[in-house]
Amino acid sequence: MSTTPIITASGKITSEIYHLDIKQYNMPRSCSIFLLMTPESVVIMDVGTSDDVNSILEFMKNINLPLKKVKYLVPSHHHFDHFGGGWKLWETIRKNNPEIKILTTEKTKRLLQDPNDHINRAKRTFGVYVGIMEPVPDEAYEIVGTDEPIQIPGFEKGFKLIATPGHTSDHVCPTVFNDDITEFVYLSECAGGLLHSQKLITLPSSMPPEFDFNTYIQSLQKIIDLKPLNTGYAHAGVVRGQDGVMQALKENIEYSFYFRDFVKSNFLKQGETRYVVEQFIKREMEKRSDIPYNELYTNYVVAVVYGQLIDLGLKEPK
Ligand SMILES: [Zn+2]
Repeated sequence: MSTTPIITASGKITSEIYHLDIKQYNMPRSCSIFLLMTPESVVIMDVGTSDDVNSILEFMKNINLPLKKVKYLVPSHHHFDHFGGGWKLWETIRKNNPEIKILTTEKTKRLLQDPNDHINRAKRTFGVYVGIMEPVPDEAYEIVGTDEPIQIPGFEKGFKLIATPGHTSDHVCPTVFNDDITEFVYLSECAGGLLHSQKLITLPSSMPPEFDFNTYIQSLQKIIDLKPLNTGYAHAGVVRGQDGVMQALKENIEYSFYFRDFVKSNFLKQGETRYVVEQFIKREMEKRSDIPYNELYTNYVVAVVYGQLIDLGLKEPK
């Protein structure tokens, strides 16, 4: 029997939280989303790209979850791989359920409603994988503040969007509290990526152009202080149990410093982003991920290296 606290498969992880591997780009473990399900309502936290919407609808059909139960779609941040399909899922569900809202902050709404800058930039690195992003009518949104209690219909426990900027300026962690206990934090990308199914070792999430190292570390410390019992990673899966959760979060702090030095020292050797990317794939990716190599690996590494170089002041944002 496995003793690892890491869960990669889809399934229920607490009495209300469901982890769904959306098999983004037809690959397992590339992207996870989370659903909060109560007898009365459902909240979907992130939805993937516009190409992932059908698989979410199919999942709901398979478990007999009526569309009219979905009260909220909640983005963790505006990036295409997490909420690029938000508009499409909202439009589809609204046909059955006119009450459905995108529950988010003013900042994320602004970025989702005006996605061209992000989409054009993302296409340069990720090409066809970015899907389509479109604005929706203003009435689609219910705007909330960060770090304040949000009432979910039929849900007795606490729910908040914890502000966790760093990966992007608008990043939040949807979080479930049971009194003083933090039952579940959807980390999304505020604590790196978890691409190993056995070891609590993480990878960076320093995407351009918004990544801010100091803010990222502060946000991560804020989550550590909550001592969560369970966490969800957008890339990808779940860490269950406080010991494992804390280990993975602290590991990501350490690894963030290591990665920053790695990028800086290797860039200064040759002055070339490509050299840093090659070194990272050769020396780090192999041991820190047990997902078989695929072409998106390289795109991902290019992005996190470049984001780090911009924050280090060694490259200009394009
Ligand atoms: Zn992101």
